[in-house]
Amino acid sequence: MSNKGKAHMGRVAQLPCCLCGTHGVQVHHIREGGAAGAGEKANDWLTLPVCPSCHTGTHGIHGNKSMLKLSGKSEHEHLGETLERLYGGLR
Ligand SMILES: [Zn+2]
Ligand SMILES: [Zn+2]
Repeated sequence: MSNKGKAHMGRVAQLPCCLCGTHGVQVHHIREGGAAGAGEKANDWLTLPVCPSCHTGTHGIHGNKSMLKLSGKSEHEHLGETLERLYGGLR
C-alpha cells in the first residue's frame, strides 16, 4: 500500500459527503467487479467521501443505494468529481 494512496485517503476524508454534503465523512472504497472477496485489497484511489448515513445507513451505498440513485450519478462519476475537487485546481 503506497503512502501516496494513504495521503489521498486522508484528503478524501476532509471532504463533505459526495451524496448529501454533510461534513464528517467515512471513506468508501469502490469495489470493482461486485462483491469483495476475502483477499481483495482495496484501492486507496477508488474512494469516495460519504457520511455514515449515506455510507452504511438504510439508504446508503451499502444499503439499498437510494441516496446514490437520487444523486443521478454512478459511484465512478462521483469518483471523478471527487478527484476533480481535490486536484482539478492544480492544472
Ligand atoms: Zn451523506
Ligand atoms: Zn463503503
